[in-house]
Amino acid sequence: RVVSAAPASPKEEAIERALRPKLLDDYVGQVKVREQLEIFIGAARKRGEALDHVLLFGPPGLGKTTLSHIIAAELGVNLRQTSGPVLEKPKDLAALLTNLEPNDVLFIDEIHRLSPVVEEILYPALEDYQIDIMIGEGPAARSIKLDLQPFTLVGATTRAGMLTNPLRDRFGIVSRLEFYTAEELGRIVTRSAGLLNAPMDPAGGFEIARRSRGTPRIANRLLRRVRDYADVKGDGRITEDIAHKALAMLDVDPQGFDLMDRKLLEAVIHRFDGGPVGLDNIAASIGEERDTIEDVIEPYLIQQGYLQRTPRGRIATLAAYRHLGVAPPTRDGD
Ligand code: ADP
Repeated sequence: RVVSAAPASPKEEAIERALRPKLLDDYVGQVKVREQLEIFIGAARKRGEALDHVLLFGPPGLGKTTLSHIIAAELGVNLRQTSGPVLEKPKDLAALLTNLEPNDVLFIDEIHRLSPVVEEILYPALEDYQIDIMIGEGPAARSIKLDLQPFTLVGATTRAGMLTNPLRDRFGIVSRLEFYTAEELGRIVTRSAGLLNAPMDPAGGFEIARRSRGTPRIANRLLRRVRDYADVKGDGRITEDIAHKALAMLDVDPQGFDLMDRKLLEAVIHRFDGGPVGLDNIAASIGEERDTIEDVIEPYLIQQGYLQRTPRGRIATLAAYRHLGVAPPTRDGD
């Protein structure tokens, strides 16, 4: 994909970091989540205690990592960052936990991918700020209990349903991030254009915003690609016309759907008669992984009403037929 929602090269990540809002007040949208966190963070600060553990879930690029940094900054503590697949052994996690200072934030991205043995030592850490670690080997091995400093775990995952129940139950604050409105993305794009010193007309910014799949990471990436286009094909200014042309070149259609979105809708309509069709069949048909379809591609199509999830599989809606310019099937008796 030209503009995927997943983080990419180190260079892209560096730019992403630079565009990241640092405080809750600069974090656009997600009003409910923000309101809740403001209160809970305020209370924790007032009492000088660690904030309750926080689980953030939602599709990639909606601001989970950003929010974890903001939580640490607002609490005035350090942030330690890692991810589920990186923590291979219990001792990897133990090393992180024992180095935390009081009330620090530990951010674990892709927390649903923790191995069971690592997850196991997390439970007492979350509950009692204690861990059991094994020292020595063979018959001399024994387990010792270590006290930890109070800390806050912020876990991020694309789907809350992928967590085991015991892990999910240990989060006091569970927040679901929603897709952003075009207006909210407009504010994000405007702020980013300012930081990048990119001259932009409001109409140019709005065009990028409304075609960014409700996702800040995509909005910021499209902004940079459109700016490149404006520099080469125009006088550097991001106008509505430049945005239109650049987005067409990037295969982002007027609805904001990209190649994979259209490929998926086309497959459901042309190869599976509009569905219902199972995820595995769609995956095989479009050559994409099942998880990517479920985490990245379909949530937005479903939210926008182009695809429906039913117990028997996915169904293309009338909006999908209309979008692809295909006549919808006439039902028996029509
Ligand atoms: P996630 O961890 O959910 O995949 P990130 O937190 O890495 O997403 O966000 C991706 C990018 O989008 C960040 O670089 C940040 O600049 C931008 N972003 C995300 N959420 C917001 C927001 N609410 N306001 C402004 N920018 C945001």
